[in-house]
Amino acid sequence: MNKIIVYCDVNFEQKSLENVSYEIISKAYDLIKDINENLSDDMKYVIEAVALCDEISPQYIKKAFQAGAGRFVLIKDKSLENFSQCVFSKCFCEYFNQNPSPIILFGATQIGRIVAPRITTILNTGLVADCTGLDIAYEEGKIKLLATRPTFGSELMATILSKTNPQCATIRPKTFIAKFDKDIAGQLFEFHPTSYEETRIKFLRRILDNSSDAVDFSNAKIVLSGGFGLNDGKDKKYFLRLEQLANLVGAKVGASRKVVDFGLMPQSAQIGQTGSTTTADVYVAFGISGAIQHICGMKNCKTIIAINTDENAEIFKYADYKIVEDAKALIDDMLATFI
Ligand SMILES: Cc1cc2nc3c(=O)[nH]c(=O)nc-3n(C[C@H](O)[C@H](O)[C@H](O)COP(=O)(O)OP(=O)(O)OC[C@H]3O[C@@H](n4cnc5c(N)ncnc54)[C@H](O)[C@@H]3O)c2cc1C
Repeated sequence: MNKIIVYCDVNFEQKSLENVSYEIISKAYDLIKDINENLSDDMKYVIEAVALCDEISPQYIKKAFQAGAGRFVLIKDKSLENFSQCVFSKCFCEYFNQNPSPIILFGATQIGRIVAPRITTILNTGLVADCTGLDIAYEEGKIKLLATRPTFGSELMATILSKTNPQCATIRPKTFIAKFDKDIAGQLFEFHPTSYEETRIKFLRRILDNSSDAVDFSNAKIVLSGGFGLNDGKDKKYFLRLEQLANLVGAKVGASRKVVDFGLMPQSAQIGQTGSTTTADVYVAFGISGAIQHICGMKNCKTIIAINTDENAEIFKYADYKIVEDAKALIDDMLATFI
């Protein structure tokens, strides 16, 4: 049996999996489907979700199967109750060395960004970090991971192929949409690591940080995003109006980095490569040019509406609806219909 491993991000409080794990499982499943069609049964690839924890609640394992995992491996030990980078990396590698696969995918989350470099160092392989796109090719009996990420100061998108095995990548949350419509009879396995060693790090307690003012785009259905085209050189008038409009339609407010750099909106609202990623149902870009660093944070939204005075603006290439208009006047008009 061939497989692709997805290293699952665990929420240790809830004994659940973070959504990014389902997003990557769904994407990997979709990518492998076409390849599997041309392979004999014994050569077909299965998506294997691997989670390290003392336990995971069954409903989250079921969700992994519904997202596309044919196998779920719980690397289980009391020592894995709380996250520790050394122990987790070591236990994962113990499992991997006995059960190798040509590809390992991680979420580019806090935990993924810590364990992926450690694991790839132990496995003596490369890592493509912070990807915003994935593809898988099958050539001459070998599976190849094509991992896309911004490069050259983010001016270009590069698709990178690994020379070493396993081929590994971290993928930003919200790059893909998690879909739970698969009818897969997944199998659950347990692996009990033996190579666990005492770590010099002692877990004392977990404290939840509720102080962050970050805008949470994870469940946003509508995002109204303001670009520098809303700047009027005097005050934040149009950004405040955008917030007003967002409150009326139940939307979250996003912004381009230029807007954030000019202090017109908080950093937490920034969408893009160095900000948040959204897969909202509707994304409305008001006066945003469409720089590649912005696009990679919103290109997977279901419907994209762009308003720009420049009919050749780059953003229009990604938009489902293109409105060549003054975005400020449009905001005024929309507010007027509500108030
Ligand atoms: C390493 C790196 C990381 C980056 N990360 C990010 C990131 O995460 N997110 C991000 O957004 N950017 C990021 N950037 C910056 C990015 O390259 C752009 O500079 C930025 O996105 C531009 O913002 P903007 O489109 O709002 O402004 P501009 O490029 O100035 O565009 C303004 C647009 O508004 C239009 N306009 C003007 N007046 C109006 C009007 N009245 N009505 C309608 N349209 C109007 C103009 O035609 C223009 O298209 C990054 C850059 C680098 C180098």
